[in-house]
Amino acid sequence: MYQSFIGLEIHIHLLAKTKVFCGCPAAFGEEPNTNVCPVCLGYPGTLPALNEEAVRMAFLVARALNCSLSQGGVFERKNYFYPDMPKNYQISQFAAPFGQDGFLDVEFHKRRKRVAIKDVHLEEDAGKMIHLGDLSLLDYNRAGTPLLEIVTQPDLEVGEEAELFLQDFRRLVRYLGVCDGNMEEGSLRCDANVSVNRRGEGLGRKVEIKNLNSFKFVRKALNFEIERQKEILERGGTVTQETRLWNENRDVTEGMRSKESALDYRYFPEPDLPPFRPTPEFLQGIQEALVELPAARRRRLIDSYGLSEAQGDFICEEKSTADYFEEAVRLGADPPSAALWLAADVQKILKREGLALRDCPLSPPRLAGLLELIASSRIHGKIAKQVLEVVFGEDKDPLAVVQEKGWELITDRRQLKSVVDQVLEENPAAVEQLKGGDSRPMGFFVGEVMKKTSGRAEPGLVKELLKESFALRFVQVLSMGGAITGSSGSDGEVSPGELHGLIDRLAQEQGLPDHLRFEEIEISRILSEEILPEDWAALITTLDGHLARAGASAIVVAHGTDTLAYTASLLFWLFPDPPLPVVLTASLATRDAAGALREAILAAVKEPPGLYVCLEGRLLSPLNVKFERVAAGAFRNWNLPEPLYRHRSVVLPAFSAPRRETLTARLEEALNQVCILKVYPGMKGDTLIALMDAGVRYFVLELYDTGTANLRESPYSLRKAFLEGRERGVQFFCTSQQEGIVDFAGYVTSHELWREGAVPMGALTTESAYTRLLAGLLVSAGEPDEARAEQVLKIMEEANADVARGD
Ligand SMILES: [Zn+2]
Repeated sequence: MYQSFIGLEIHIHLLAKTKVFCGCPAAFGEEPNTNVCPVCLGYPGTLPALNEEAVRMAFLVARALNCSLSQGGVFERKNYFYPDMPKNYQISQFAAPFGQDGFLDVEFHKRRKRVAIKDVHLEEDAGKMIHLGDLSLLDYNRAGTPLLEIVTQPDLEVGEEAELFLQDFRRLVRYLGVCDGNMEEGSLRCDANVSVNRRGEGLGRKVEIKNLNSFKFVRKALNFEIERQKEILERGGTVTQETRLWNENRDVTEGMRSKESALDYRYFPEPDLPPFRPTPEFLQGIQEALVELPAARRRRLIDSYGLSEAQGDFICEEKSTADYFEEAVRLGADPPSAALWLAADVQKILKREGLALRDCPLSPPRLAGLLELIASSRIHGKIAKQVLEVVFGEDKDPLAVVQEKGWELITDRRQLKSVVDQVLEENPAAVEQLKGGDSRPMGFFVGEVMKKTSGRAEPGLVKELLKESFALRFVQVLSMGGAITGSSGSDGEVSPGELHGLIDRLAQEQGLPDHLRFEEIEISRILSEEILPEDWAALITTLDGHLARAGASAIVVAHGTDTLAYTASLLFWLFPDPPLPVVLTASLATRDAAGALREAILAAVKEPPGLYVCLEGRLLSPLNVKFERVAAGAFRNWNLPEPLYRHRSVVLPAFSAPRRETLTARLEEALNQVCILKVYPGMKGDTLIALMDAGVRYFVLELYDTGTANLRESPYSLRKAFLEGRERGVQFFCTSQQEGIVDFAGYVTSHELWREGAVPMGALTTESAYTRLLAGLLVSAGEPDEARAEQVLKIMEEANADVARGD
């Protein structure tokens, strides 16, 4: 087994106004050779003078990277000849840089890692050479602009991790306001050194890679280089110590020149600059300028405002967004709602209009005002979206918009009651139908009231008034087959049946509130192990329709036991927050059917809105249901603190069910791409590759325990499949065969799995992880392949983060 070591050398252009050793402007994009003077052109007899602003920024970065700060930073001359460097040496730091021995923590696949920072030093940039045919032109505007170099220890292991480190670092310097972090324009540049060696033998021979001017190139170049070096070692060769360039057109690294050793530069102290000794006041100033850094702020916002990990990422990506968000919250905005609106509707308009959040018409007070209008039920979500458009279009306060347009909701009971009465009076047939036990007219009535009020009636209140008018509660029972609906023949064999008789019997039975009315809808007449994509599609579209119409007070789904864990979690991912109680139930045998149904109906009438599983009279979360048929009452939830029926923070992008045939087709397409495999001794990598050939793009691997599998160099291991999968863009998600929370921190082999890019699903069971994958594919249907794969990966990673936290 091999081990890889990656160290980064990052250069950032400091946003100082002037060059580091003279007073020329440090601006970019001016006419060539206009921002120059005798000092930065290296005329004999000139003397450098240190720019304190650049020094202050350098110290700020060093401090934010937890470095020990130098008490006497020395500048040195780094000697080499190149036409873009007029002095023939670069003033840099070598023996006594401003910062040393720091660190930055990164989190990769939920595993925290400390990357040591070797040093942070200030230097001057060179000029620019422009080649035009036979001519080479020189522009010295950039010569002498302040450059900060950050060198890490070789603590990183794979391209993805280096990419992540660089992204975190970029966010950090942008938060500090010392660099704009623009990689395309070269304000942030990165070189990397890579070495590979047999595990336990320490660093190998170092290869330096240059020309990494995007995050993607960092990832791709490093992964390519690791594989290249591994292959050389496997063949028994030795890696040449050299400098290579990333060729973005061919996706390979190419040899450039052999590496000079540090001695070649003949560093010696710059005689014209004294060592920089920071005063206590200077250091105090650094301490005061140190803002809350992105990682800390993200954690704080998540913990104190109840944001999801993904919302935390979004809000804290830019300091300006985080500042905006906190300002709105300070003004009274509900934090999760503010995050939701910012990430969705506001973001959409900003993109469309090409605006930045900080200078758009929606100021923090206006966002807070809009959310207040929703929270106080003066407008509902749909109208809020219209208001938002007007705020952007006409630059007005949300309240003014609502008042001018007359969009305020009618929340006055008496006013609405009279509209409700009028609608009922006009539709006697539908009223009779409803009284007879059919709940379908309920949605119709709501629609009529909305029509009469131009959509301004408060929907919740309308439903409440309608139900009061009838003093009835409806429970819809959706029948999905299974033993609960089945009948046993004289030979004891169970065959699929229907619920009819059962519900009639229940309705007459004592113990059920007598104002209940039932409506039975048969979705399929099957035994649960026979579920097909079209059965799921039928259940999902029916449920979606009923939830939207809101005709019933509650919904009970009678289901089979064998596959309930799949259906329950699938419904949860798609309908995490139903407006009424939805209870799934099952019974082990036909003889228990009435009892199971009765318990479920009672729970459905009693519980607040939400999705539940009711088994043997006990309420369970729809997530992580496990059947352990060892004794009565052995159904339970794995890895979830009880009671836990909701995980608001792991909610997927909103799902609305398409037509049944379309949904069936989408489910079939998703099922073709997904495969659950239980990892077992003797499992061959080739088996997985054959599945990839058959179209599988997403594997749920059930690992032995908290995250181990065989990854040795052998046909009977996952190694080959992982390599092949990486080539093909296949994703691997890992769950546990035991009741374990998958994390890759423990064993060497789990560490390897993590390196290979397998995503731990944390506390989720295989069934719940698998259905999340299906749901992810459903909500991303229609996206181009690559974007879809990215979205699915994000959805899966979020589940791990939030369920693992158990909130
Ligand atoms: Zn100058």
